[in-house]
Amino acid sequence: MDLKSLIRDVPDFPKPGILFRDITTLLQNEAGLRYVIDQLHDHHVDAGIDYIAGIESRGFIFGAPLAYRLGAGFIPIRKPGKLCQAVYSVEYSLEYGTDKLQIHQDAVQPGSRVLIVDDLMATGGTAAAAAQLVDQAQGELAGFAFIVELEDLGGRKLLPDVPIKTLVTY
Ligand code: IMP
Repeated sequence: MDLKSLIRDVPDFPKPGILFRDITTLLQNEAGLRYVIDQLHDHHVDAGIDYIAGIESRGFIFGAPLAYRLGAGFIPIRKPGKLCQAVYSVEYSLEYGTDKLQIHQDAVQPGSRVLIVDDLMATGGTAAAAAQLVDQAQGELAGFAFIVELEDLGGRKLLPDVPIKTLVTY
C-alpha cells in the first residue's frame, strides 16, 4: 500500500519552514488504518511483547489497537500532570527549550517486554525519553515502532540499540 499517498503534507505547520506530516488522513482511511496496524502486528507477533507503551497523543491511537492485536497490555506515556499515581519523569530537549514525559511507577511488571509506539520519529528525542521511562519502571525495552521516520534527522542515533520498525521513510 502507498502510505505516502494517505499522509498529508502540510507546509509551514506548526511554524514557518516546517513540513508537517499529517497522519489524520491515514487514520480516516479504513484500509490504511487496518494496513498499518496489521503490518506492525505481523512484524512483532513473535517478539514476545508484554506491553505497548504509547506516547501521548498519537502514539495512543496506533498503540492501543496494536496492543489489542498482539494480546499485550497498553501503557500511556503522558505529558506532565495527566497521570494520577506516582510517576517517573524524564525531561528532554526540544529545538527551543525542554519538555517532559511521565510514566506510572507501577506501569509494568518488572522485567516484562515493552514496545514503544509513536506516530513519527523525527530527532528521536521523544522516543529516547520514553525509553528512559520504561527503563526507570524496570521494563525491558523490546523495541520501537513508528508509522513514519524522518530519516534526515538521524533519530536512530539517539535511541538505544534495540530493533526499530518504521513503515514510511521521508
Ligand atoms: P522527535 O522527538 O524530534 O523525534 O519528534 C517526534 C515527536 O514529535 C512525535 O511525538 C511526533 O508525534 C511529533 N512530530 C514531529 N514532527 C511531526 C510531523 O511532521 N508530523 C506528526 N508528528 C510530528
